[in-house]
Amino acid sequence: MLKDKVAVVTGGGRGIGRAIVLALGREGIKVLINYRGKKESALETLEELKKLGGEGEIYQADVSVEEEVEKMFNFVIEKWGKLDILVNNAGITKDNLLIRMKSEEWDQVINTNLRGVFLCTKSALKIMLKQRSGRIINISSVVGLKGNIGQANYASAKAGIIGFTKAVAREVASRGITVNAIAPGFIKTEMTDVLSEEMKKKVLDEIPLGRFGDPEDVANAVKFLVSDEASYITGIVLNVDGGLAI
Ligand code: NAD
Repeated sequence: MLKDKVAVVTGGGRGIGRAIVLALGREGIKVLINYRGKKESALETLEELKKLGGEGEIYQADVSVEEEVEKMFNFVIEKWGKLDILVNNAGITKDNLLIRMKSEEWDQVINTNLRGVFLCTKSALKIMLKQRSGRIINISSVVGLKGNIGQANYASAKAGIIGFTKAVAREVASRGITVNAIAPGFIKTEMTDVLSEEMKKKVLDEIPLGRFGDPEDVANAVKFLVSDEASYITGIVLNVDGGLAI
């Protein structure tokens, strides 16, 4: 039963994060919608969640800043007294060919996309280990499996998430906590909107199922991995990519 469970979704204000918030909300899960800068989007997501009859809160925190992350998880405990689900979704891109990549572009992407997953997971586990239950879902990427030109920083972070998922899955399995990753392919969001039409066509040609993904495609996979039906699944990478990684 998912009803009355408590979830944190990082970067939950828009895109894939918003779809995850709404999918969990529809199941009766209470959701903390984490955002970094765009309060308006987070509020819109909260409104949509409430329209569905769901319950939630928005919370501003940069996932790469340790004190902010710790405060966020303390807030969850003050508010709802437990934490059942963490979805590490927040992520950024700073694309450049490696030869031109500035160390700031490297650091920003690694800090948000990988250090952020480390910090949030550590804080969540402090709660989940005591409860002896929990589900952690990390949003990786097909780019972490295959690499991509101009994304050495992003590919490293997303591949790092996969190693992290498997290591932590082993560490906490005996406490009834599962840790899994999802590797989306090309999903229609503001992150991918900025790509040129030429680039989009090139990617589309490589997708066996012949369409880009919707944020809901990823949210459906999250919904499955947090369900009772997925209780025997841990340490996996679930591709949600229309076959792009085949
Ligand atoms: P998006 O840019 O629409 O959303 C990303 C969210 O993360 C935003 O709400 C942003 O505010 C938040 N965020 C960024 N830095 C943050 C920080 N430091 N602290 C807290 N929140 C922060 O992108 P999206 O397409 O919805 O991507 C969501 C996740 O899915 C990302 O991890 C992304 O790498 C991954 N992903 C996306 C695709 C795709 O095709 N869109 C494919 C594979 C993986």
